[in-house]
Amino acid sequence: MTQEIIIGSARSSAPGKVTGRLHISDAPDGSPVEIPVVIIQGAKPGKVLWLHGCVHGNEYCGTYIIHELLGALDPAQLAGTVVALPILNLPAFQARQRTSPFELYHGGDMNRQFPGDPNGTHTQQMAAKIYEPLKTYADVLVDFHTAMTPDVRWALYPKVGGEVEALSEKVARAFGLRDTLPAPPTILNGSAMMTAAKDGIASYIVECGGKMRGFTDESVTDSVARLKNVMVALDMLEGTVRDHGHLNYFSNFAWVTATRGGLFEKSVSCGDRIEVGTVLGRYYDAWGNDKGEATSPQPGIVLAIHPGPVMATGETLVHIGLDPRPV
Ligand SMILES: [Zn+2]
Repeated sequence: MTQEIIIGSARSSAPGKVTGRLHISDAPDGSPVEIPVVIIQGAKPGKVLWLHGCVHGNEYCGTYIIHELLGALDPAQLAGTVVALPILNLPAFQARQRTSPFELYHGGDMNRQFPGDPNGTHTQQMAAKIYEPLKTYADVLVDFHTAMTPDVRWALYPKVGGEVEALSEKVARAFGLRDTLPAPPTILNGSAMMTAAKDGIASYIVECGGKMRGFTDESVTDSVARLKNVMVALDMLEGTVRDHGHLNYFSNFAWVTATRGGLFEKSVSCGDRIEVGTVLGRYYDAWGNDKGEATSPQPGIVLAIHPGPVMATGETLVHIGLDPRPV
């Protein structure tokens, strides 16, 4: 009844927890870059749930969520297997930035490079090393991200049709973040979520908390409870699935960048409903003079807002979920 799962030096062939490292690249001094792998195989057969965090290196909230979940799992009570890679982009994680410092001339956003390329750029090669076991073993992927402020709470699943979409939506409803984008397959090319979905793997992105230390213990604890509810829905844990009620589904999202710079004080929060012209915040110049309001060019729900206190032109002012409708 057991399954053999081998990811780098982590080898699981019986119920219980194993840990190891997966070699994804070499540093400039030739030393191996190896990321942590945890596999918890349950006593009963079931799905393989793949969890990963820090695909963007400074989005640490997901790493804490994964660690707290792993600490709470008992293999004797588990059906199926949890595979967890809490830190994907290790060079970026160590540099406390979104992308790897070794990615010099290309975009370097790992979440646009899947399935990766063994002969490609630094980040494409890392993505290839990670995606190979993901494609081999995963039935369901949950990918943790953050945005700019601690109150960020929204999610995405791939609207690709068929069983993959159905199972992905089931995960979205069990995790139950109110603001959710059924993402059309034309966007987020190269994300782990969309790449996995196109390979027949149900997937889900959680956006929870802000980058760096911009998240709370409560957001970690709440996410772990939601993740356990997903595992109940997937028949990996016993229990009754909690119903989170209706979700707000978006048609898409819009990024709005700042067309002026200055000191900036925001005046909306994540989850707020905004209309065209809603005041998002106020600018001041370096002499302290009031330079006017920033207003929204589109209606929707605030998914992320620049926290201030300073803004340069072209920075992300607001990220808006469009056409919210309760489903
Ligand atoms: Zn991210």
